[in-house]
Amino acid sequence: MSGDESSPPQRPSLETLISRALRLRCPRCGRGKLFTGWFSMPERCSECQLKYERASGYFLGATYINYGLTAVSLTALYFVLHFGLDLSNRQLAGPLAGFCIVVPLLLFRYARALWLAIDCHIDVSVLASDD
Ligand SMILES: [Zn+2]
Repeated sequence: MSGDESSPPQRPSLETLISRALRLRCPRCGRGKLFTGWFSMPERCSECQLKYERASGYFLGATYINYGLTAVSLTALYFVLHFGLDLSNRQLAGPLAGFCIVVPLLLFRYARALWLAIDCHIDVSVLASDD
C-alpha cells in the first residue's frame, strides 16, 4: 500500500507554473488548453478536469495583472518616446490611447493564465480540488 490517496498534492514549481501559463496550458497537468478561443475558456481542463473558474468573479484578479502590465509598459513606452525620441504629448496621445486599448486585449489570456498559476502556487489545494 502506497498511501498516495492521503498524501498532499504535488505542487509544481513556480517556474513550471509560469511556463505552463505562458504556453496557456493547465497549471495542474500542463497538457490541457486554457482557452478554446481568444476569450473563451472551457469550464474544466480537457485532460485532468481541473475546474478553471473556481468561483464567480474568480478571474477579477487577472484584471489587476492585465492593468499592471499595461500600465508599466505604457509608462516605459512613454518615457522612451517622449524623453528619448522627443515626441510631443500631442503626437503621443493618439497612439498611446490605441496602445491602452490593444495591449489589454492581447494580454487577456496571459493575465488569466498567470492569475491561475499564482493562485495554484499560493494555494496548493486548488491543484487537488476536483470541484
Ligand atoms: Zn489539466
